[in-house]
Amino acid sequence: MEVKTIGVVGAGTMGNGIAHVFARGGYQILLCDIDRSFLDRAIETIGKNLDRELAKEKITSQDRSMTLQRIQPVLDRAKLAACDFAVEAATEKLEIKAGIFRDLDKICRPEVIISSNTSSISITKLAALTRRPDKVIGMHFFNPVPVMKLVEVIRGLATSQASFETVRDLALKLEKTPVEVNDAPGFVSNRVLMPLLNEAMYAVMEGVATAEAVDQVFKLGMAHPMGPLTLADFIGLDVCLDIMRVLQDGLGDPKYRPCPLLIKMVDAGWLGRKSGRGFYVY
Ligand code: NAD
Repeated sequence: MEVKTIGVVGAGTMGNGIAHVFARGGYQILLCDIDRSFLDRAIETIGKNLDRELAKEKITSQDRSMTLQRIQPVLDRAKLAACDFAVEAATEKLEIKAGIFRDLDKICRPEVIISSNTSSISITKLAALTRRPDKVIGMHFFNPVPVMKLVEVIRGLATSQASFETVRDLALKLEKTPVEVNDAPGFVSNRVLMPLLNEAMYAVMEGVATAEAVDQVFKLGMAHPMGPLTLADFIGLDVCLDIMRVLQDGLGDPKYRPCPLLIKMVDAGWLGRKSGRGFYVY
């Protein structure tokens, strides 16, 4: 089946980026969220991000208008019956994603692959909620989607080779680099990244060094573009804590214990950049 129309569920940070890159790649997009204001904000963000690409001469003004024309915002999820491929990019809560997967399974044609952009929820578990577990797969983009090259392609236990190949080829058409990973808590990206950030937090908590000093070590010594605590603030400390808990629960090893300072900061509402305070003040 040729994929022409893509359904994107969730129009937040990731959903608008995913809609942007697929539309720029020539696909028709049905972009779905639960409130008109979220869809309006997504279209505005995509317009601004396309302006940036235009200013850098990565696209022409005709590309810009064609890309926007290809994106149709929808509130009624039933409209996704027209899609040939779906990407779920809604809030990282199992009950929200479970509801969406059950619904998409009813709405989408039986041959349609339903992918998730989840950072940490089991693809195998989402697949088991549907009657098409062979057609459920992880398509994990990175923020900001129009810029970052990687797509982690996650095979659930039941994901078929054909579904994997379709997603791999779609990623290549978007000029991304797909990397194949099996389903496991945190996949590869967060399994390796989050314990690094968590350990950096322990270093601050134990007074080994200040947040600034830890970040400098990584920027200057390891050539990371930003230090681990700046990155944790950027991702959101609540998101970091949720992912550490997924690793702790899923892998059962005490080495994944969330740093007590992280827990305390989240309790205080210090969530990083988005709340104005985390390891740094914004
Ligand atoms: P976000 O909060 O910016 O956006 C989530 C959107 O989903 C919101 O607009 C919300 O209204 C919408 N939504 C919630 N319930 C819905 C429903 N039932 N139907 C349709 N839309 C619904 O979150 P985000 O950062 O874009 O994250 C989305 C997904 O991408 C999560 O699974 C997250 O783990 C993953 N992810 C995030 C990042 C990141 O850096 N932000 C990176 C990779 C993957």
